[in-house]
Amino acid sequence: MSLKVYLNGNFVDKERALISVFDHGLLYGDGVFEGIRAYKGRVFKLREHLSRLLDSARAIMLKIPLTARKLEEAVLETLRVNQLKDAYIRLVVTRGSGDLGLDPAKCSHPQVFIIADRIKLYPQEFYTNGLELITVSTRRNIPEAVNPRIKSLNYLNNILAKIEASLNGFPEAIMLNKDGYVAECTGDNIFIYKHGTLITPPAWVGALRGITREAVIDIATKKLKIPAVEGVFTRYHLYTANECFLTGTAAEVVPVVRIDGRVIADGKPGKITCRLIQEFRALTSREGVKIYSES
Ligand code: PMP
Repeated sequence: MSLKVYLNGNFVDKERALISVFDHGLLYGDGVFEGIRAYKGRVFKLREHLSRLLDSARAIMLKIPLTARKLEEAVLETLRVNQLKDAYIRLVVTRGSGDLGLDPAKCSHPQVFIIADRIKLYPQEFYTNGLELITVSTRRNIPEAVNPRIKSLNYLNNILAKIEASLNGFPEAIMLNKDGYVAECTGDNIFIYKHGTLITPPAWVGALRGITREAVIDIATKKLKIPAVEGVFTRYHLYTANECFLTGTAAEVVPVVRIDGRVIADGKPGKITCRLIQEFRALTSREGVKIYSES
């Protein structure tokens, strides 16, 4: 069966799910998106993702032609039409077709599409051995220019950092903000654990307020009784951390064991990190919006 894509209210075969070359999402990266996961017949944190999408759209003055309720139904229906229970979902809203100028006012119809497909999981060794990362010279966008809290289609800043990491043979890059404070990775948030506290950069430093990040803070503080705070820190704090890990919808929780050639603690995934991986997985299999009413 060919994958069916939701496109402006219709389900079309993936080969026919086409967007105009005049769409400003393509011409200028003018649009917003979300990456969402479904686990065992439930969509994890769907409402939180939709709320962030609506905020991103509002921040760029993009009017999404659907309410949160209708977007939720469209996501669930996309999963049902494709008979999926475990999936990665990409929900995109573009500015729509306009002329070759920048003016978004010339684009009359935002385009909404949803792709749901089986997820390509990260290799198991990432979780058992941990990642080796580098900090890169490409700085995270300054919030006064393109605020990293907006999950926009304009990912060139992250792509440039990713290219730097790849050229050096690393799977992911740690990005600093213009002042040298740790911001986030190209597609994940970052945490360190030091002196019994989890610390993650605040969004204003230049990070997306990740849904996984919020879930991990919740698990740490409520379930594991470990304090988790937002804090501004530098590379020094990365190198001297007791533990380090990344969070993201696709990655979930991944340990980091080496940064810029420095071994973090004993070079093995940390104890707290491993407990968070376990607890996060448990949460994903019991929480979420049901796709099928019988599940
Ligand atoms: N930062 C960036 C730049 C991202 O693109 C993402 C999402 N892939 C994240 C952080 C993690 O956010 P979430 O947990 O909501 O997926």
